[in-house]
Amino acid sequence: MIASKLQLIWRLKAAAKRWSVQQRKSSTNCDLAIIGGGIIGTAIGRQLKLDLNHLNIQVLEKGGCLGGHQSSHNSGVMHCGIYYPPGSLKARLCVQGIDLLQRYCSLKGISYNKCGKLIVASDCNEAELLNCLLERARDNQVEDVELLDSLGAIQGKSTGCRGVRALWCARTANVSFRNVTQAFGTDFQEAGGIIHLNTEIVGLRQSCNCEYPLKLTREHGETIGAKFVILCGGLQAARLTHWVEGEPPKSSPQRISLKVDYLTVAAKYCDHLSTNVYPVPDWGAPFLGAHFSPSV
Ligand SMILES: Cc1cc2nc3c(=O)[nH]c(=O)nc-3n(C[C@H](O)[C@H](O)[C@H](O)COP(=O)(O)OP(=O)(O)OC[C@H]3O[C@@H](n4cnc5c(N)ncnc54)[C@H](O)[C@@H]3O)c2cc1C
Repeated sequence: MIASKLQLIWRLKAAAKRWSVQQRKSSTNCDLAIIGGGIIGTAIGRQLKLDLNHLNIQVLEKGGCLGGHQSSHNSGVMHCGIYYPPGSLKARLCVQGIDLLQRYCSLKGISYNKCGKLIVASDCNEAELLNCLLERARDNQVEDVELLDSLGAIQGKSTGCRGVRALWCARTANVSFRNVTQAFGTDFQEAGGIIHLNTEIVGLRQSCNCEYPLKLTREHGETIGAKFVILCGGLQAARLTHWVEGEPPKSSPQRISLKVDYLTVAAKYCDHLSTNVYPVPDWGAPFLGAHFSPSV
């Protein structure tokens, strides 16, 4: 009896050792390493793994979960593409992406709220700017956008809202991007992708190994060899880019600091604010302004 128990323990230990060697092997070298497990890193990993299943792709995330940074600390708005210059990548991504994302959420059972968006002008100068936005929306082929010219029409969309004129975007929706990121991560793993949480990359260098010419260093000194690396470090993107040998600093992304406060509207007012409400944007600022967004 004791002998058979010992044999079982021995077998379990051997299996655990094999598993850990396999794990170490699989985390040591890969075809593609993606640094950062936010929505961008998981989306890229997922799509590449679905398209190129034979590749060993690893997502390396320093936090204890996917999407724990910006990807879960935002307004949760699926933008429909009216702000960005016609033909720009951002405009194209928004216009195509909003439909793709809503279809994806429906397929995966991720709830989203297609509650639309009002961009509200509070005076005549801002009202003029709405014409430019409408024109831009048309150039970008954003559907279901209309100008509301009266307070009654504005309050028909959201009773608590006041303004002289507004642009109504019916396609805008709200979602938890944390849920979307996690669903991307699940798809990626189900397709055979590997996610390493609690894995901070602290260095990236070229190596003399011709099969894996890039060497990533983890916080405790272990290294991972990779053929390709994609940097998806969100706010850390600039720092990560500086690691890349020979990269001239001027071509690196610039970090713009921004402090954001989130306030919760008291429940008794929520019925009067059933949609997203945004100001007319200040084109000189790299953000869309203080706004109200229903959370999902
Ligand atoms: C206040 C605010 C509101 C916003 N509202 C919206 C909105 O309504 N709609 C919208 O579409 N977008 C919105 N955005 C933008 C959106 O949140 C971001 O574009 C998006 O989350 C960026 O995703 P990411 O994967 O690049 O970054 P992140 O989610 O920050 O992911 C980067 C990941 O990289 C990891 N990482 C960094 N360095 C390392 C390293 N050395 N090793 C390993 N891992 C590392 C981090 O831990 C992090 O998890 C908003 C942004 C802000 C700030």
